[in-house]
Amino acid sequence: LPVAAPVKAPVATHCPYCALQCGMNVAAGADAGTGTVAITPRQDIPANAGGLCQKGWTAGELLTGGARLTTPLLHGEPVGWDEALDFVADRIRALQAEHGPDGVAVFGGGGLTNEKAYLLGKFARVALRTSQIDYNGRFCMSSAAAASNRAFGMDRGLPFPITDLAAADAVLLAGGNMAETMPPFVRHLTAMRDRGGRLIVIDPRLTATARLADLHLQPTPGTDLALALGLLHLVVAEGRVDEDYVAARTNGFAAVATSVAAWWPERVERITGVPVAQMRLAVEILADASRAAILTGRGAEQHAKGTDTVTAFINLALALGLPGRPGSGYGCVTGQGNGQGGREHGQKADQLPGYRKIDDPAARAHVARVWGIDPDEIPGPGRSAYELLDALGTAGGPRALLLFGSNPVVSAPRSGHVTERLKGLDLLVVSDLVMSETAALADVVLPTTQWAEEEGTMTNLEGRVLLRRRAVAAPEGVRSDLEVLRGLAVRLAGPDADGSRGAAGFPTDPREVFEELRRASAGGTADYAGITYERIAAETGVFWPCPAEDHPGTPRPFLDGFATPDGRARFVPVEHRPPGEDVDADYPLYLTTGRVLAHYQSGAQTRRIAALNAVVSETFVEIHPDLAERLEVSPGQRLRVVSRRGETEGAARVNPAIRADTVFMPFHWIGANVLTNPELDPVSRMPEFKVCAVRVERVG
Ligand code: SF4
Repeated sequence: LPVAAPVKAPVATHCPYCALQCGMNVAAGADAGTGTVAITPRQDIPANAGGLCQKGWTAGELLTGGARLTTPLLHGEPVGWDEALDFVADRIRALQAEHGPDGVAVFGGGGLTNEKAYLLGKFARVALRTSQIDYNGRFCMSSAAAASNRAFGMDRGLPFPITDLAAADAVLLAGGNMAETMPPFVRHLTAMRDRGGRLIVIDPRLTATARLADLHLQPTPGTDLALALGLLHLVVAEGRVDEDYVAARTNGFAAVATSVAAWWPERVERITGVPVAQMRLAVEILADASRAAILTGRGAEQHAKGTDTVTAFINLALALGLPGRPGSGYGCVTGQGNGQGGREHGQKADQLPGYRKIDDPAARAHVARVWGIDPDEIPGPGRSAYELLDALGTAGGPRALLLFGSNPVVSAPRSGHVTERLKGLDLLVVSDLVMSETAALADVVLPTTQWAEEEGTMTNLEGRVLLRRRAVAAPEGVRSDLEVLRGLAVRLAGPDADGSRGAAGFPTDPREVFEELRRASAGGTADYAGITYERIAAETGVFWPCPAEDHPGTPRPFLDGFATPDGRARFVPVEHRPPGEDVDADYPLYLTTGRVLAHYQSGAQTRRIAALNAVVSETFVEIHPDLAERLEVSPGQRLRVVSRRGETEGAARVNPAIRADTVFMPFHWIGANVLTNPELDPVSRMPEFKVCAVRVERVG
C-alpha cells in the first residue's frame, strides 16, 4: 500500500474508535513512531483534554498499515467498481422480484458517521424500500436508551457535560470499566476523588476501574437489578428520599416505593452476594453528596432484563433527586465511536431521523417530505439486530444482506449460529476497510475510506456533535460509504428515477448529507437543525438539541424539565428476575465478557496494529485461583469453555480479581460470543451478552 500522501498537516480531528471521541491532531508524512502519520492529542476537547489511550496513539497505523482493502472483490476476485456495483444491484433486483422488498436487509454500525448512518437509513427505506434494517448499536446501549426514553422521554447518553463528573461529590458506576475501555474518561473520576469525592463501582470483577473506587460492590453476574432495588429500598427505609424533588419533578414514586419494600437488604445480599454493610455504605455516600451521578455501562445493560436494570438505577437516581440538577444526574456511558449519533438518524429498525419513532404518523410525514416521497412509502418497523441476523436465509427472512461498519461473525451473540445464517444467504455484501471475519464470507467486498480520509460528524457520549476532518488522502481504489450508497441507489432506481430516488437523493458530499440531516432532524428529539460544520469547528462541538443557528445548544437538557408531556420524570416499578440461563450441574459457572485496554470491539482494526497485538494477541479465559486449583490448571494452560451454544478455547489467566463462580473472556476475537446467550430484552431487544452458564475444562 502506498504511503498516505499529506493533504494538510496537522489536522484537528478525532480518534477512530470509542465514544469518548478524543480530540487528536493528525499529521501525515511526519515521523512520530507510528508509521508515517503523527498523532498528538488535542487540548481543546474537554472529553480528553490532552489525553489519549494506546489505541488512539497508534491509530495512525490504520492509515498506513498493509492490511487495507483497496479493490472491490467479487467472489474473492478483484474487479472494478462498476462491475461490483452492477453485480450487487442486479442481484438485489432479482431477489426483491422473487422475495419482495424485505428480501434484502441492511445492517449498519455505531461507528459510522452521522452522515453515513442517516444516508444508510434513507437508502434502506427509499432505494430498497425494505423494512429490514438495524445496526450493531442494538448490541451496545439499547437497554439504557429504552430506559432513558421511558423515564425522561429522551435518551442522550450523558445529559450533562462529562466535566460535571469532576465536580461531583460521588459517582456510582454500574458495569463500566473505563480504565480499559476509554482511559482518558478516568481523569474526570480521579479529579473528583482528588477533590474528596467518592467513587462506587459495581462489577463482578475487580477491574482496573474498580481498583480506583472507594467502594467496590462485586455482585453475582445477572443480579445488578436486585442490587439496585436493594439500594433504593435502603434509601426509602432510611428516609433519604429527596421528597421535595420527587414531589416537584416526578410521577409514580408511590408505586416504586411500594415495590422496593420487598427488596430488603438481607434478601438482596442472598441474591447478589453483596454484603448489607456495603449496600448501606453506598447509599450513605450517594445520599450525603450534594452533587452525585449514577452511570451505567454495558455490564448493567447487556441483559435480557437490561432495560429494567437501568430503570432501577434511574429510579434510584430520581429518589435521590439527581437527574436534571446542575452537576448531578443519571447517564449511560456509550461505548461505540458514534454510539450516540448512530442511534439518532434512522439506521435503527424502529426509528426515523431526529430520534423519531417510525410508527408515528407525524414523524413519517415530516421525514417523507424531506425525502420527497409519500409517507406511506416508508416501510417498517423491521426486525431488531439479532432477530434480523437469525432470520437471514430462512423461509420468510431476507435472502440478501448489505453490511456496513460491523463484524457480526465476531460480535453477534451465538455467533456460530449467526455465521451459518450468513453463509446461507443468496447475497452478502460487506463494505469495510479490512478483510474482517464477516467480509471473508461475502460475495462482494467493497473497500471504503476511513476516519482521517474523509469528513463527517460524530456525536460523542455527551451528545456533543463533533467534526471529523480529512487529514490524509485515501489510497487509490477505495470509495466512501456515501459513494457506495449513491452508486447502488442510482443503479436500482434506473435512469428515469425522480430526484429523491436517483442521484440527487443520495449526495456523496458529507456536508450536503448533513444539510439534509439537519432538515430531517428538525423538530425531533435529537434536533440538529441549528448545527453547522462551521459552528462545530468554531465552538469545538455543539450539544443537541439545537433547533436554530442562534440557539446555543443544550449541554444539560433536563434542567428546566424532562422531555415528557408534563415535563416530569417517570418512576417505573420493575422487578428482579434470574438471568435467561442460570448455572446448573452441567454448566456450573457464569461467563461474562468485556474489553481489554489494547483492543476495540470486534478487533477488526486493533488486531491489525502491531503495538496493540504486542499487548494482547489472543483471547484468554480469566478464572479465580480457587477455580484454577479445583481444575488443576496453571496460568497459560489451554482451557475449553463450553456453553449450550458452542465451545471455544483460550489460555488460562488466573486472577483473584474475579469471583470464584465466574469466568471472563474478552470479545475481540471469535470465541466469547460463540458461547453467549441471544435471549432478548423484551423492550430493547438487547441480547444477554453479559451472563450465561458455561463449564470449563482443561484441554488435554
Ligand atoms: Fe480516546 Fe477512546 Fe480513542 Fe482511546 S479509543 S484515544 S479513549 S477515543
